[in-house]
Amino acid sequence: MVNTVSAEIGVIGGSGFYSFLDDVTEVPVETPYGPPSDSLFVGHVAGRRVAFLPRHGRGHHLPPHRINYRANLWALRSVGVRQVLGPCAVGGLRPEHGPGTLLVPDQLVDRTKARHNSYFDGLPLPDGTVANVVHVSLADPYCPAGRAVALKAARGRDWEAVDGGTLVVIEGPRFSTRAESRWHAAQGWAVVGMTGHPEAALARELELCYTSLNLVTDLDAGAETGEGVSHEEVLRVFGANVDRLRDVLFDAVAALPAADRRTCACAHALGGQDPGFALP
Ligand SMILES: [Zn+2]
Repeated sequence: MVNTVSAEIGVIGGSGFYSFLDDVTEVPVETPYGPPSDSLFVGHVAGRRVAFLPRHGRGHHLPPHRINYRANLWALRSVGVRQVLGPCAVGGLRPEHGPGTLLVPDQLVDRTKARHNSYFDGLPLPDGTVANVVHVSLADPYCPAGRAVALKAARGRDWEAVDGGTLVVIEGPRFSTRAESRWHAAQGWAVVGMTGHPEAALARELELCYTSLNLVTDLDAGAETGEGVSHEEVLRVFGANVDRLRDVLFDAVAALPAADRRTCACAHALGGQDPGFALP
């Protein structure tokens, strides 16, 4: 599908991040992997063209394990996006990472179970194309340039973001048991979420820059002594911080390098390996 609307930066998050922009264009996108979570919503932020994608769909109807992550990243790239910001709500695994903490992780642990987590899975696409066997490095899963921009943007808004830490991604949609949560914390991991994987890995496979921003909405079951995580509390804390997070995201958008000025390794993640299909 040829799109006449283009964007250079993608933001995968809730509708709260773009709903007040006055020049948003809704752009439906088809992909070889099926439909993304929703249309892309393309608008201007600080003179940059940004494509917003509601990760869970409008109305928040998609649970984390049902999100079509491959279609989401593919759709963004197909309209020209080369840099992606991925804000998400997480649970804190340490008492010092309480609700309202913003953390920009530098590492990722995948504890998901049943997700399509690669474009190179050896299965044919509807058009008969079969991807080659390709291996990308995910040693450092996040774009260093994007991380630096996000941290600076947060500090510019008087939000002392935590620089680094490991995000462990669980399958969900249930929250962790106390034993799981204590185990995650004992590994030294910082925060727990449900959507960070395979988002970062798929972005890397498409040679996109990807930066994760984690808003702590609760202390995970092993890090607090009460009843454990409730969805109501997650929504309350997210709502209380969404305007602030939006300011940080928009400042980060303004500060990201132009798509053709990327100096990080993300732009060459395939290292010359032939994917067997044309990147969108
Ligand atoms: Zn990068």
